[in-house]
Amino acid sequence: MALLGGIEAGGTKFVCAVGTGPDDLQAEIRIPTTMPQETISQVIDFFQQQIKQTGDLAAIGIGEFGPVDVCENSPKFGWFLNTPKPGWQQVDFVGTIKRELNIPVGFDTDVNAAALGEYQWGNGIGLGSLIYLTVGTGIGGGGVMGGRPIHGLLHPEMGHILNPHDLSVAPFVGACPCHQDCLEGLASGFAMEKRWQQKAASLPADHPAWALEAHYLATGLINFILTLSPERIILGGGVMEQPQLFPLIRSQVRERLNAYLEVPQIMADIDNYIVPPKLGSKAGIMGAFVLAQQTIKQNFGT
Ligand code: ADP
Ligand code: ZN
Repeated sequence: MALLGGIEAGGTKFVCAVGTGPDDLQAEIRIPTTMPQETISQVIDFFQQQIKQTGDLAAIGIGEFGPVDVCENSPKFGWFLNTPKPGWQQVDFVGTIKRELNIPVGFDTDVNAAALGEYQWGNGIGLGSLIYLTVGTGIGGGGVMGGRPIHGLLHPEMGHILNPHDLSVAPFVGACPCHQDCLEGLASGFAMEKRWQQKAASLPADHPAWALEAHYLATGLINFILTLSPERIILGGGVMEQPQLFPLIRSQVRERLNAYLEVPQIMADIDNYIVPPKLGSKAGIMGAFVLAQQTIKQNFGT
């Protein structure tokens, strides 16, 4: 089986790995996201070393934080676009990796990659569609529809959807630098920290923060269910480490949909409809392996 490289390029760290799948992760490194030159040269060093040690890598897959250019015919394909991450705007990451390592590169958003990882090896096995939402420092969502990652004009930016927000009940104005009280602005780990003046992880399980968090996330999920009709929703990211969130979100989604969608997955089996990633924190890097596999197929037809 072809040896694959994977890169999960995140706003706080880049995870780089070599292997063939979830049961065969041969090397892994975490590189802090500092400035592009520094971080990217460490990524290149890691893979050059791996290529030396292992003989050959067949391809590398990359999942990148957004917004990124995913349009294959665009001159900026694989570039970081206008990200709020200082120093990372307009950086040609995919092109640099391709040129420096002289290797085929598959590429998508970090969350489309995580969705692909779950689709092939996790909680998406056997389905035709799913969405993957990460609730971490920010909120991002991607998905697979009809077996393919979701692309269109660009790629989904599910974290930035707008929500009903009654300031008289919830006076926190929101933390998104672009839209203030979009979903990410109200419900990301960063937003929770700003609102409650402490890390989300340190809020006790019975703190009112969690009911509000579940309310916002359920609002987002209802909108995604009604627009995309995914067969399963996978929720990952640091904030979802709170086990009390899943039952709160599931019951709100079911109640507020109000029996409008007469499907057993929601009416009778919502515990298996809104789920954590089976691959846990490895969903993204496994998705990068899937992107590498797809590139090999495209390039060599195997
Ligand atoms: P990132 O989004 O930065 O790639 P994570 O998915 O780990 O990384 O998300 C980090 C965010 O999740 C931070 O805002 C952090 O406060 C929050 N977080 C991490 N662990 C927990 C936890 N156990 N409970 C609640 N929030 C958490
Ligand atoms: Zn926003």
